[in-house]
Amino acid sequence: MKTKHYNVFVIGSGIAGQTVAKACVKQKLTVAIADNREFGGTCANRGCDPKKIVIQFSALLEQSQRLEKIGVSKLPKISWKKVQQFKTQFVEDIPVETEESFKKLNIDLYHQSPEFINENEILVEGKTITADYFVIATGRTPRVLPIKGSKHLETSDAILNLKKIPKTASFIGSGYVGMEFATMLAILGCKVTIFEQGDKALSNFDQFLVEKLNKNIKIKYALNGEKMRHKSRKVFNTAGRIPSVKDLKLDNANIKLDETGIVVNDFLQSTTNKKVYACGDVSSLSLPLTPLSGLQGYIVGENIINNNKKEFQFPVVPSTVFTQPNLSSIGLQEDEAKKRYKNILVFKGEATDWFNAKKSNQNTYAYKIIVNKRTQEIVGAHILSERANENINLFSMAISNKMTVSEFKRLIFTYPSYSNDLKAMLADED
Ligand SMILES: Cc1cc2nc3c(=O)[nH]c(=O)nc-3n(C[C@H](O)[C@H](O)[C@H](O)COP(=O)(O)OP(=O)(O)OC[C@H]3O[C@@H](n4cnc5c(N)ncnc54)[C@H](O)[C@@H]3O)c2cc1C
Repeated sequence: MKTKHYNVFVIGSGIAGQTVAKACVKQKLTVAIADNREFGGTCANRGCDPKKIVIQFSALLEQSQRLEKIGVSKLPKISWKKVQQFKTQFVEDIPVETEESFKKLNIDLYHQSPEFINENEILVEGKTITADYFVIATGRTPRVLPIKGSKHLETSDAILNLKKIPKTASFIGSGYVGMEFATMLAILGCKVTIFEQGDKALSNFDQFLVEKLNKNIKIKYALNGEKMRHKSRKVFNTAGRIPSVKDLKLDNANIKLDETGIVVNDFLQSTTNKKVYACGDVSSLSLPLTPLSGLQGYIVGENIINNNKKEFQFPVVPSTVFTQPNLSSIGLQEDEAKKRYKNILVFKGEATDWFNAKKSNQNTYAYKIIVNKRTQEIVGAHILSERANENINLFSMAISNKMTVSEFKRLIFTYPSYSNDLKAMLADED
């Protein structure tokens, strides 16, 4: 069988893989990319983007419900069928457009999962291929639950493609994906139950704020040891996502994997096979977020082109749970800050009696900001509000630039605005 050779063979066409492939081909390297699903990756096809499109309609309904009787006399009726049609307009062209953009750059495409044969070769579409470097950018895939009947569970892909809003639905797992879709379906009239094996929802987020969010969302916990029956039309597995490596035969190429992903060094290179880089959600140094995957793709591209000159360092990364209201977070949690600094200041409270909450009849608005007492620098910010997903970016700038409380409070923001509230949050220490 004939062997084909590339400088770089990328596995996975999401944001991480695309970024590497395009950077390398621009430097005149020969590049190929493989994907075993539609090209374009999770975020654009079945993640962040379509999710935000559909969620905006439940957000609109929730906002109208709050303003009902104080100005809104008739609640909007959401046509889920039209919402689906609108969402489809955004996603249907992504695979073709992504493929076209690769072809224009003379990147070869493969539509199958490659398998490693040994440290230097893969097998894909019946061809044996060698490369100077292999890049694994295969993202994550839903964890398969080891429970009876798990074949009946559906995933976030199915939620995004629901033909109609079910009357009842259960979610197994209360991470951010589960909580976002559970909130959306509940607002749209579905009776939702969430099952969580831990003792709290959204365990990676500030619990002072999570408790306030849960005021709106009642979570039912399965009781330990006690058998309970619960019936619902749909049951979704939102119990987390694991590195997508099942079909790659990593062992054949001596590529180390652990539960965090493909184990990489600071250059995002496999610690056990120097011909292999891993970036994005599948790497052991990832947080499963699109902006971080893009950054890692960029770093791998640079390291292939310039022979390992760029080390990956975790930037401060904001994240948002798109519930109603949004829960956003950046920097250190309170307990992390306590471990890192001798003394910290914690500014926390509810803002439900502030103008912005009152004008929109919003009974959930709270915050916690963490400051290093010695330097007065802001080191963490956690906000539960209608605009948290935008406002958190101001704290991203503040923390990245090591701004102190007084420097932040000297900034002038528009009034009235949720941004302006951020300064008031730094008024009274808890
Ligand atoms: C429902 C949902 C909502 C999300 N919302 C947000 C959000 O609001 N904000 C945010 O920042 N992030 C969000 N994320 C996470 C975000 O989508 C990921 O962090 C991002 O897509 C990771 O990019 P990536 O390039 O590393 O991997 P992916 O985009 O997952 O790309 C990996 C690609 O590899 C392919 N692949 C997998 N295995 C193989 C194989 N064996 N062979 C060949 N190809 C393979 C896949 O088909 C896929 O195309 C969400 C995820 C989900 C599921």
